[in-house]
Parts: sequence; C-alpha cells; structure tokens
Amino acid sequence: MAIPTADLPPKSRKIGNLKMIWRIASNYPAQIAGAALALFVAAAATLGVPYSFKLIIDRGFLSGSGDVSRWFEYLLMLVVVMAIATALRFYFVSWLGERVVADLRIAVQANLLRLSPSYFEENRPSEIASRLTADTTVIEQVVGTTTSVALRNIVMSVGGIGVLLYLSPKLAGLMLFAIPAILVPIIFLGRKVRTVSRSSQDRVADVGAMVDEVLGAMKIVQAFGQESRESTRFIGAVEDVFGVAKRRIGLRAVMTAIVIFLMFASITAVIWQGALDVQAGNMTGGTIAAFVLYGGLVAGSFGALAEVYGDVLRGAGAAGRLGELLNEEPGIAAPANPIKMPEPPQGRVTFDHVTFRYPTRPEVSALDDFSLDIAPGETVAVVGPSGAGKTTLFQLIQRFYDPASGSVSIDGVALPATDPAWARARIAMVPQETIIFAASARDNLRYGRWDATDDALWAAAENANAAEFLKKLPEGLDTFMGEGGARLSGGQRQRLAIARAILRDAPILLLDEATSALDAESERLVQDAFDRLMHTRTTIVIAHRLATVRAADRIVVMDGGQIVEKGTHDQLARSGGLYERLARLQFQGLAA
Ligand code: ADP
Repeated sequence: MAIPTADLPPKSRKIGNLKMIWRIASNYPAQIAGAALALFVAAAATLGVPYSFKLIIDRGFLSGSGDVSRWFEYLLMLVVVMAIATALRFYFVSWLGERVVADLRIAVQANLLRLSPSYFEENRPSEIASRLTADTTVIEQVVGTTTSVALRNIVMSVGGIGVLLYLSPKLAGLMLFAIPAILVPIIFLGRKVRTVSRSSQDRVADVGAMVDEVLGAMKIVQAFGQESRESTRFIGAVEDVFGVAKRRIGLRAVMTAIVIFLMFASITAVIWQGALDVQAGNMTGGTIAAFVLYGGLVAGSFGALAEVYGDVLRGAGAAGRLGELLNEEPGIAAPANPIKMPEPPQGRVTFDHVTFRYPTRPEVSALDDFSLDIAPGETVAVVGPSGAGKTTLFQLIQRFYDPASGSVSIDGVALPATDPAWARARIAMVPQETIIFAASARDNLRYGRWDATDDALWAAAENANAAEFLKKLPEGLDTFMGEGGARLSGGQRQRLAIARAILRDAPILLLDEATSALDAESERLVQDAFDRLMHTRTTIVIAHRLATVRAADRIVVMDGGQIVEKGTHDQLARSGGLYERLARLQFQGLAA
C-alpha cells in the first residue's frame, strides 16, 4: 500500500486542501471577526489617505481660503485609526496563524499515535517529523500573513478601483482595460511555480532525512571513515534543493518583472492621459494627484496579490501533505464493539495456525502455520537462528500487525475482537534494546504505570538489581537521563527495563534477551533479575543464554517461521537436531 509521495495525484496540490485549514480556523470566530473588522477599518483608512490629499490640495491650497490645517488634522486622525487598526489586524491574524498550527500539530500527532507500526516502516519518521515542523510553518505563514495580505490587497484594489471610477470614469476605464492583460500571465506562471514549489519541499525533506540518518550514525560513519562519502552525498542533496529552488525563484522573478512592467506601464499611460486632461482644464490638480496615489495603491495591491498567490499554493501543498497524515486511518484498531477481556487476567497466550508476512516483505512468510499454546504462569524459551521469526511472535502478541490467517489470542480472546489497548495492558515487554526517554530516571521507570509510588519504584528497582546504580545517580530518581540514556551501561539499561516491566505488573511478560555480551557481573545481575521477574508470570523469552533456557519450562525451537523442535533443555540437548547445534554454537562457553 506504500505510495511514494512523488507519484501522488495532483490532488494534494489543490487549493481545496486549504479547506482543512479553514475548518480549524473557524473554531475561533471571535478572532476571525476581530481580524476581519480590523482589516476593513485599516484598509478603509489607508484608502482615505490619498483622498485627504485631494481635499488638502483642492480645498486647502487651491481654494485660497488658507484653512490648510483643518484638512491636515483630519489626515492625522485618519493616520491614528490606520495605525491602531493595522496593529489589531496583525495581532488577530498572527494569533490565528499560531493557533491553527498548534491545533494542527496536536491533531496530527494524535492521529500518528493511532497508526500501526507498519505505517512507520512505509513512511520515514524523519519525513513525518519534517512535515510537522516545516509544513506547519508554511501553514502558519499562510494563515498568519498571506491571508491577511491577500484580503487587505483585495479590499484595497476593489476600494481603490471604486474611488478611481468616482474620480475619473474615463481614466479608470482605461486602467481597468489593462487588468486582464496583467492577470493572464500571473495565472499561467503561477501554475508553473506551484509544480516547482512542491518538488522543492520534497527535496528539503530529503535533506532533513539525510542529516537525521548521518547524525544518528556518526560513530559508524567515522569508524568506517565514510565522512567524505557522506559529505558528497549531502552536497548532492543540498545542491538538488538549490537547483529546484533556483528554478522556483527564477520563475517568480520573471513573474514579478512581467507584473510590475504591465502594471506601471499602464499607470504611466493613464497618468499621461490625465496630465493632458488637467492641461485642457477638464480635471483639477487635486484629482490627478489623488488619481496617481490611488493608481499606485491599486498597482501595489495587485503586485502583492501576485506574490501572495505563490505562497497560497505553497500552503496548499503543505496542507495537502498534513491532511494525509491527519486522515490516515490506522491499520490496527479496535472493532466497533470490542469484547471485554476476562477478569481476573490469566496470562494465556495462544497462536492458532498463524501465517504472517510483513507488509514490506510480502514474499517471505515470517510465520508459517504457527501454533503454540502457552499456559498461565508457564515460561517458554524461544530459540532459533536469526530470521526464524522469534521477534515476529512478540509483534503479533502485541498486535502491531494482524496475521494473514489463523489467530492470536490472549486469555482466550482473539486479538482483533478486542481493543488493542486492553490486550496490551496485560503485557509487559523487556526489549533487547532498552528505550530510555529524555526524562528523569523516575519517569523512565514508571513509563508503564504513572501512579507508582516511590516505594513501589524502589521495590521494583531492588527486584531488578537496579536500585544500587539508581541510588548512585547524582540526583537519585530525579536525575535527567539525557537522550537515549547515554549515561547508562548496557547492563544498567537492561535492568532499568526490567524494573519498568516489574512496575507494569502485567500477567504476560515478553523478554528479548540482549545478544550483546555483558561482563560477568552484569550478566549475573541481569539473569538474577530475569529469574525473579519470570517467576510469577507467563513468560515468553527469546533466549540467548543457557541459564535462561535451563530455567524455562519448555523450549520452542524455531526455523523459517515454524516450530521445528519442542522440549526441555535436557531432552533437546541430545536430540541431534537444530537445538543441539545451536546450543553448541550459541551457548558455548556458558555451558561449562
Ligand atoms: P528473529 O527474531 O528470529 O531473528 P524475525 O521475527 O525478526 O526473526 O524475522 C522473521 C522474518 O521476517 C525474517 O525473514 C525477517 O527478515 C523478516 N522481518 C522481520 N521484521 C521485519 C519487518 N519489520 N519488515 C519486513 N520484514 C521483517
């Protein structure tokens, strides 16, 4: 189902995408009304200024009455109104821009949290992140600036043209004649800019993804001496961005030149005609002065509209992409009437003839007609070569994917029949690689149970053999763990994960033993913590250590998504099968 963004139909570039933005903005009618009112008052005041000049010239200077000051006082009052209204317009409109973006970010994140993991395999998380930052910034610009610039200039052009018609229908008619000649090239070039803008934003997302990847793998890059390759690759991506941007700004430059030329050439022609009229005595000096000023205002407004058009299209592109994130339906969700899980929880896990292929690798069966019933309280060790399907078992128990056929049940309830959140509440997971959040040690521990007291935290830490190192942290449980928990050793991270799982206190425990070797002391501490954890719960452990395998009630040997052997260590160790071979290779050294 993965559709590369480049192949998306042009629907995602349509102005119609901005409807979504309007829907969000329309939640704030008071601010919209305030913005609209301020906008009209400011535009009207601005339009009044040239007219004041006409009055100053015709009634003040030319009438010979000498009362010039009165007209200047009016002008000053107008300027005050203009200043206040403009400030209010800026405030309300910017407020709306920021608010819409905040709401949009929250809504997109909320939807992302519903999506199943397969979505994030098909769509790069870094690209999604860039949409949440870069695209929302474009939207903010559209709502907070562009819309107000557009509306202001529409009001100014319409009002300005109205006044021009009033001042001199003949000259204004002449001017209006020129407008179609100006609009046609704007629309034509606007289309081109739109296409180029879209690809420009895609290229920027590529650069973001690359930075992310390389910074995340800095040690590997440096260890393999690939700095110059990464640099070349990056230069390539950045130059791509520049190349596309160059086309975009080139087009816009041409567009601007054409618009300005047409605009001012027609104004010049009109004024020319007007000057002849004044000379002939058909028009006052004040009228021609006002006409020139209004002509300038109207021309400026049209120019601004031409620029705004490109921004609106950019906004439409951004809104289209955000709309995709906002409207993506989760592949895994609760049914309309989810079945309640039986109480109290038992901790039974059943695989019934399960066949499963990953959406991104449909040619390989990760599980192939797999059946296994794990009784409450039982400890099952899963062993097998890499790629056998061990991790996939965990993914399906947590319902990150649905099998193609067969069913997975917890406590007798088939997972698709219930709410995934209820089923997952019965599971605690200790992954191979512990995820440490950039938060305090306390928050990292109670990630699965926020109401845990400090006493409960310490008891869990004690059980997980984590209390000792946690106590030594500079600020105890309040110590900030930093990105990825860089301060902790591998063994410490694992014990933290175990403590986290103990606190979660779920009836089913999924344990993925780390393959990386720990030093003997850490190894013993981790193993000891595992033993205590497995004791009272249903445990499925992907085992890499002999001690773990020995402690299990049952060993399941997997290969190619199927069970190839079952039994205890003592039964299997002499079977002459895959287990014996694996045991010799994997558990070497520990067996002694
Ligand atoms: P194990 O944990 O035993 O090493 P896995 O369950 O990870 O094996 O993998 C089983 C099969 O599924 C392998 O062929 C593997 O390449 C494939 N696989 C695992 N995870 C994914 C994934 N996220 N996307 C596509 N294929 C996957």
